[in-house]
Amino acid sequence: MRLLIVEDDVLLGDALATGLRQRGHAVDWFGDGAQADAALAGAAFDAVVLDLGLPRGDGMVWLRRWRERGLKLPLLILTARDGIEQRIEGLDAGADDYLVKPITIDELAARLRALVRRSAGQAQASWQQGALAYDPATKVVRWKGVQVDLTGRELALLEALMTQSQRVLSKAHLLEKLYDWSGVEPESNALEVHIHHLRRKIDPNIVRTVRGVGYALGSGEAAP
Ligand code: CA
Repeated sequence: MRLLIVEDDVLLGDALATGLRQRGHAVDWFGDGAQADAALAGAAFDAVVLDLGLPRGDGMVWLRRWRERGLKLPLLILTARDGIEQRIEGLDAGADDYLVKPITIDELAARLRALVRRSAGQAQASWQQGALAYDPATKVVRWKGVQVDLTGRELALLEALMTQSQRVLSKAHLLEKLYDWSGVEPESNALEVHIHHLRRKIDPNIVRTVRGVGYALGSGEAAP
């Protein structure tokens, strides 16, 4: 999944971005709300991690503004403000979770998985789609019970397709889920290459091509 981090502490922001990337996520990290606000318009994020004590505008102000504007993304507050009233205020303003620093990356990653799972309408930790099973916590993929080895980007692509399994997703949308702005630009055929690998490693029909629109998760069964 693609995550947006708003954190002005350089050491912590870098640790969060690095740790979440190591766990297979595309991550964009900004030091204030205005930059994050611009980023939200530019890519299809799955969740936001928001610090409250930020320069040039408190995180609470940005949270209220985003919710008023109709932003539905799961949002987790990560802050040093540990008062009960502050937690209640944050949740009532539209945050989906509230974590007090210090935290471990593992706990943050688990809470983000839970939030994104819920927003995708899933309750179970492991996702099942026909003969395909995927556990976002362990990153284990099974096809008809047999484990399939996928690279980080292939996993991210499969996760994006499974998160919105009823929809046809555009190439641009899928690329946004796989590549954050920190690295090099992906090759123009990068998505097709990853899809080719998923079909080869799992099943030729695991990804459906919808001409002129994009891609969707397939049933894995041969077309009639
Ligand atoms: Ca701060």
